Amino acid sequence: RSKDAGGGVYHVYEPQLHVAAEERRVLEIALRNALQNDELHLNFQPVVNADTGGLTGFEALLRWTHPELGPISPAKFVPLAEDARLIAPIGEWVLRHACNEAAKWDDDVRVAVNVSPEQLHNPAFVAVVAQALAQSGITPNRLELEVTESVFMREGTGAVKVLEHILDLGCRLSLDDFGTGYSSLGYLSRTKFSSIKIDRSFVQGASKGVREAIAIIRAVVALAQSLGMATTAEGVETEEEHRMVQELGCTKVQGYYFGRPLPAHEALHLATRRKRGESVAA
Ligand code: C2E
Ligand code: MG
Ligand code: MG
Ligand code: MG
Repeated sequence: RSKDAGGGVYHVYEPQLHVAAEERRVLEIALRNALQNDELHLNFQPVVNADTGGLTGFEALLRWTHPELGPISPAKFVPLAEDARLIAPIGEWVLRHACNEAAKWDDDVRVAVNVSPEQLHNPAFVAVVAQALAQSGITPNRLELEVTESVFMREGTGAVKVLEHILDLGCRLSLDDFGTGYSSLGYLSRTKFSSIKIDRSFVQGASKGVREAIAIIRAVVALAQSLGMATTAEGVETEEEHRMVQELGCTKVQGYYFGRPLPAHEALHLATRRKRGESVAA
């Protein structure tokens, strides 16, 4: 292409960029009001013991239903909330609601809450967690915070200090989406995670017989075992995938095969009516 075509190329992309920016702006303004307008709610997805199928806890997953646009995926609005500095108030709401919900469950059922790096780079977050625990009355070790590797990629030790304070409160930490980020493994020996969550992409790969995916799960399981951590396989959708990750030694599983993210009242039902060790699989 000649240089002259350059302007034309820009001209082609400009309207799309404009639409994307405009959509972001509209969503950002809407998100600012979502909390007050009661448009946010939580779903709870079962996490089960890989061998027995018994419920160990739920992961709280944030949902936003816009009055006109309908449900908007967290994959879309969470990054937006992070950019717009809205993740702190939204994250605080999530923590409070998740803990209050867990307070209604049997006291051996845990709740996992996703936390953005943004939240962990703010020292005030420790007080937010402490308050959510105090308000709900749940035992700190029932609350598990899910963080991603990306939190260790930023300069400075601020987030690591916050994580240590959270451990001091008695909460658990798990490492979410493991294997999808880009980082050294050094932090694994410095921060005490209870569990490593193996991303769904490896689970899918392994069940299709992709050797690299199997090798990675094996290695992560061995690493976790030697560090005294559990391993949770994410996104298990079929019996075949469950069998595979169980054979590979994953200790917990989560995915549509065992249960979709559920409205709070359905999670409550599972978390209180169950018999001990009873499988939640249909
Ligand atoms: P995540 O923490 O890795 O959560 C797991 C995601 O996988 C959820 O997507 C869940 O619905 C989905 N999932 C679970 N089982 C299966 C399965 O068997 N198959 C498939 N295809 N998907 C499955 P969701 O709810 O759309 O959330 C997407 C991401 O948004 C989460 O990924 C998390 O990173 C973020 N997120 C959700 N809620 C919050 C929140 O309260 N705070 C923050 N900071 N991030 C959140
Ligand atoms: Mg998660
Ligand atoms: Mg995950
Ligand atoms: Mg994931």
